[in-house]
Amino acid sequence: MQVYTKASQLASFWGQEIGFVPTMGALHPGHASLIAQARAQNQIVVVSIFVNPTQFAPNEDYQAYPRTLQADIALCESLGVDVLFTPEPAQIYPFGVLERITLQPPASLLGFEADMRPKHFDGVLQVVLKLFNLVRPKRAYFGQKDAQQLLIIQRMVADLFLDIEIMPCPIVRDDDGLALSSRNVYLNSEERATARKIPQALMYIQKAIQEGERDSAQLIALGLEVLQGLKVHYLSVCDRQLAPLAQIQPNQTLILCAVQVGAVRLLDNLWV
Ligand code: AMP
Repeated sequence: MQVYTKASQLASFWGQEIGFVPTMGALHPGHASLIAQARAQNQIVVVSIFVNPTQFAPNEDYQAYPRTLQADIALCESLGVDVLFTPEPAQIYPFGVLERITLQPPASLLGFEADMRPKHFDGVLQVVLKLFNLVRPKRAYFGQKDAQQLLIIQRMVADLFLDIEIMPCPIVRDDDGLALSSRNVYLNSEERATARKIPQALMYIQKAIQEGERDSAQLIALGLEVLQGLKVHYLSVCDRQLAPLAQIQPNQTLILCAVQVGAVRLLDNLWV
């Protein structure tokens, strides 16, 4: 495995069939599942680890974000990654972050995370487009865990005519059902026990749907019952354009959830 820190080093792989997995590191089995899928489908696998400053607000955890580079290198090596790209910000923002070109998602894809983190997706789009241009992948792998991010990136690819296949990957969960996230390390044991209610609420909703319930308000009420006492930022039923749905439409529905537990905002969702 090559570990590259300079943007220019990636050019040696251009033209090959590249599967790309962009991450912020502190890798866990959720990331590993994306990497394994990329490994199975491409000649060359490139993983990036870059904690992107422009997607963090000043009050957020950019400095404190978990960084576990040695363990990440070992994991990538064990998964057969060809290139691990770990740039410093100056490689990605050659003119400085204040002098960067900016991108924005359309208003219809905002709300949810963007209500809590107004500039977050601007930063995500900027860095993902830059990484796409540096890596030149045929396919790029993203987790359904970050559903809104995935939809916004799919829109960018379609709207800017990027010749890249976006490959959505299912959510990987811990044994207790909690969706894996690099930020789960911030939870103490009591918070961790509370956090389990999030997948429980979604499973409860899923069961009700399987039993025939279609009404969004009913389903949300069921979920909120399980989440009673927790600080729910949103629990919403919408379509794949993020427009609200009063009734479940099979294969077109997303149930999005964000809950504050201690210092951590936890995201989870169901693709129905
Ligand atoms: P991050 O390092 O948090 O920016 O995540 C990098 C990629 O891994 C994103 O596409 C995430 O959606 C994906 N990812 C993170 N956690 C999970 C998970 N539990 N299951 C599947 N994909 C995940």
